Amino acid sequence: MNALVTGSTSGIGLGIAQRLAAKGVNVMLNGFGTPEQIEAAKQSVAAYGVKVGYHGADLTKVAEVEDLVKSTEQLFGQVDVLVNNAGIQHVSPVESFDPAKWDAVIAINLSAAFHTTRLVLPGMQARNWGRIVNIASAHGLVASANKSAYVAAKHGIVGLTKVVALENAKTGITCNAVCPGWVLTPLVQAQVDARAVREGVSVEEAKVGLLSEKQPSQEFVTPEQLGGLVVFLCSDDAQEVRGVAWNMDGGWVAQ
Ligand code: NAD
Repeated sequence: MNALVTGSTSGIGLGIAQRLAAKGVNVMLNGFGTPEQIEAAKQSVAAYGVKVGYHGADLTKVAEVEDLVKSTEQLFGQVDVLVNNAGIQHVSPVESFDPAKWDAVIAINLSAAFHTTRLVLPGMQARNWGRIVNIASAHGLVASANKSAYVAAKHGIVGLTKVVALENAKTGITCNAVCPGWVLTPLVQAQVDARAVREGVSVEEAKVGLLSEKQPSQEFVTPEQLGGLVVFLCSDDAQEVRGVAWNMDGGWVAQ
């Protein structure tokens, strides 16, 4: 089995790539990073004895997304599993939200998933099997202030997930979303650091503050746990799980 995982040079995407590899799935990695970071990511996946590729497509550019999918199909012969994971954050009230940041968040967190999905679907349909997993967020289900583009994109990808699931409901192709709460990745570390500065507290206190606001378990979700859920959604047992937005969030949206 062969997977394309976007944004898999760090954080959640890398955790998912490793969990898929542990199940024997070949993985095409994508995302930014220094040559050393990219090599380390590749090695950490190859350690499971699977084939690993890397493509540095910038997902804001449609031609590069097209090349990413084409290259993955050329490398592995076919894409059986697509995980749309790449994402960025920008925090600001709507009235001062930089329009260029809005466009970037929508392009990476939402439109890129549309493009990869439309490009992998014909092959999956021809084989009558496929798994598309979109990494949304608790912010795909509920909102927070100052995250207009992110919340809009994440609600959008939950909607896209349902449509793709319905359009392929009579096939062996499923499409589902995963909605993580806080995971301590570089994306969230930046928010922890900003909070520490803003509140004049230590980074450790800022972490506790962040969790206290939203996540009743007071524990971060881990990339490995999310990888485990993605592996389940890619299994045959999950054949009739279609169009869900499955939260793994320490109780965030139960409140
Ligand atoms: P991260 O910053 O660790 O990783 C993001 C990945 O996306 C990196 O590999 C990065 O290089 C890549 N990327 C960024 N811009 C790109 C572009 N233009 N083209 C290609 N790749 C690009 O972030 P993360 O926390 O692991 O987030 C992964 C996903 O999980 C995102 O969609 C994010 O919204 C979602 N998520 C994260 C959390 C959290 O608490 N960390 C919670 C809910 C959802």
